[in-house]
Amino acid sequence: MTKISRAAIFDVLNAWEIPGAKTSLVALKAVKGIDLDGDRVMIALQLLEAYRDREELIRLALREKLGAVEGVGEVDLEFTWERTPEADFKDLLPTVKAAVVIGSGKGGVGKSTVAANLACAAAKLGLKVGLLDSDLYGPSMAMMFGIKDGPEGTPEGKILPIEKFGLKLMSMGFLIDDDRPVVWRGPMLNKALQQFLGDVLWGDLDILFIDLPPGTGDVQITLVQNAKGTINTGGAIVVSTPQDVAFLDAKKAIGFFKTVETPIVGVIENMSSFLCPHCQGGPHIFGHGGVTAAAQQMGVPFLGEGPIDLEIRAGSDQGTPLVVGHPDSPQSRAFMEMASALKTRLGL
Ligand code: ADP
Repeated sequence: MTKISRAAIFDVLNAWEIPGAKTSLVALKAVKGIDLDGDRVMIALQLLEAYRDREELIRLALREKLGAVEGVGEVDLEFTWERTPEADFKDLLPTVKAAVVIGSGKGGVGKSTVAANLACAAAKLGLKVGLLDSDLYGPSMAMMFGIKDGPEGTPEGKILPIEKFGLKLMSMGFLIDDDRPVVWRGPMLNKALQQFLGDVLWGDLDILFIDLPPGTGDVQITLVQNAKGTINTGGAIVVSTPQDVAFLDAKKAIGFFKTVETPIVGVIENMSSFLCPHCQGGPHIFGHGGVTAAAQQMGVPFLGEGPIDLEIRAGSDQGTPLVVGHPDSPQSRAFMEMASALKTRLGL
């Protein structure tokens, strides 16, 4: 019988990424033991409760991946779940009335675009608004808002947000070199985010939008923990495109926010209808209305829908969000309506 290589098992655990988390079990320090007995591999895993919704996925994927390692006949996984410690978390956004985190089940659904336009729309309604980009995988806030210089620091070591289009803007990307990969994970990420959140001088804000990375991983958990009070006054927005497959991912994000006890303030369907530049008519390229129905089924509120539109993409690329560049377009009106609904819902 071929002897199983422990290194080969480790390699699999190190390379395979947990669905929706962009990180491996090894990087999360979740592997507590690897035991080999003949052709049997036994692995003990310890993960935060927030990953519990993925137990079956992890089990199936590891059985398949580890089963393919030479000599492996049987794979046994033992899970233990760690409650997220809350005792020493304090709210790091004391001058913000309500924080709204904007998440999605997967990348590319327009989460950052929605966050940018919604924030601009809220500012146009007269609210004091901030936007924090914690999605280091998406296009940078610098591009979407045409920002050329980084933020300034104060002699006390604090950071001043950048002001543009009536918003206060900050991105974790401003503090990271373009050519240095982001390797923050687990406790290190927790520390970096805590420091970052505590160091930005937002001043008094009615609402801070936080653009989360796609999926449900460490950044989301850490942010929700460190600004729990302020986020609970606001809540979570989940962005999805109308296709059924996209909403399946969005459901996972909704499930995640429920697990970490963040209220869902609304679901947004992005890229729903297509506004034809010639006739202003709206065929529904990706289908339409599926997200409304699915949100209703899950008992979460629906906040609105944004059409798919070339100007929206062009605005993001050119550094002026559509709501600022083309305020009278039907697409901008859609974002204004969503911001209005949000303002009413949060009592701002
Ligand atoms: P995410 O943050 O979900 O990864 P982005 O906001 O980066 O997604 O959007 C992905 C791409 O889709 C970008 O090029 C963006 O300009 C484009 N996009 C987003 N929403 C729309 C829309 N409603 N109409 C047209 N293009 C859009």
